[in-house]
Amino acid sequence: MKLALIGFGQAGGKIVDRFVEYEQRTGVDVFTDPVAVNTASVDLQGLEHVPEDNRVLIGQSRVKGHGVGADNELGAEIAEADLDEIQGALDDIPVHEVDAFLVVAGLGGGTGSGGAPVLAKHLKHIYTEPVYGLGILPGQDEGGIYTLNAARSFQTFVREVDNLLVFDNDAWRKTGESMRGGFEAINEEIATRFGMLFAAGEVDGNAEVAESVVDSSEIINTLSGGGVSTVGYAAEDVERSAQGGLLARVGSDRLSDRGSDDGLDSANTTNRITALVRKAALGRLTLPCDIQGAEKSLVVVGGPPEHLDRKGIERGRQWLEEETGSMEVRGGDYPLPSSDTVASLVLLSGVHHVPRFKELQQVAIEAQDNIAQRDARSEENLQQLVHDGAEELTSLF
Ligand code: GDP
Repeated sequence: MKLALIGFGQAGGKIVDRFVEYEQRTGVDVFTDPVAVNTASVDLQGLEHVPEDNRVLIGQSRVKGHGVGADNELGAEIAEADLDEIQGALDDIPVHEVDAFLVVAGLGGGTGSGGAPVLAKHLKHIYTEPVYGLGILPGQDEGGIYTLNAARSFQTFVREVDNLLVFDNDAWRKTGESMRGGFEAINEEIATRFGMLFAAGEVDGNAEVAESVVDSSEIINTLSGGGVSTVGYAAEDVERSAQGGLLARVGSDRLSDRGSDDGLDSANTTNRITALVRKAALGRLTLPCDIQGAEKSLVVVGGPPEHLDRKGIERGRQWLEEETGSMEVRGGDYPLPSSDTVASLVLLSGVHHVPRFKELQQVAIEAQDNIAQRDARSEENLQQLVHDGAEELTSLF
């Protein structure tokens, strides 16, 4: 599907940059005129793939290009005040070619956390296309203020978008990794998962096995109904045989019901796909949660056409119906003729059992109370610090 992509704040901009790089690497055409918005000029300068003309610096009169310092109320105020400038960059997007908008932001910071919900609200007001959010939750070790920002932004963002896709940094950080190195790997994971999801709906109709290719309307229908979504992913390498066909590393797979004589085994191909669908849904999700109760789902299996077995996808779909308890499970292929992996992607939309949110909200409430108590005591503490008990000293003026 074609997406108008807008990255808000530092994380948002970096992830959009990575999406464009993913698009260039894989040769798909998904992201139309990507835009990055920020209050910090240095963050915009650091981008590599978003065209310079599509980088919008907002709030210059208030923060002089230095960012909002994790103050998401200020981030929201600035976004509201400078919506015209953002809209100016969006005016170049050929909206008639676009299936939806995607606004990406780290929810723990200031600019994206405050600005992304404001922009989403504006987009929904102006355009008829769906507006999706991709919100990044902070790691637990980032502390109270980031958690409070994320909890407040999440609550607002989910209300303003047609669906909020969530990625939890906390579930993906590795111990002992530098923050920067860690984000590199995390952003690659984000680009691979969400890139595959949106690219799958962009395969042209003439592709092989086109009758079961995922269509952008299936992605839109899975995301319709609102709420929060998470994505699972699993992949397995396949290698080329001496004859140039593709053989799985494990077993001798043969896809007999497609009349193929390339040495693939139908039962193994079916089983691999079913196993990959399970692995994707039960493995690490972008937002870990209980998949039971997910309202709608979509299964996409990508890879070389001879490895895309409809029976496998069908079984995977049925299994997901049982696991989620919902009958609304869509499925399809994403043929990638030159790929040497078979990958399964599961989009779970309208998830409800998310322990991480309860934990995040709890820490956020504690942080909010702590800040309120500190503010209440602040003046008194300063008076005690500055004044001598007997008031023998007097101020200059
Ligand atoms: P802003 O520029 O004020 O919007 O703030 P940031 O985008 O730096 O938001 C900070 C939050 O985003 C933190 O909670 C970080 O966990 C997260 N973050 C920052 N950079 C990245 C990144 O490159 N990738 C990911 N996944 N998260 C990031």
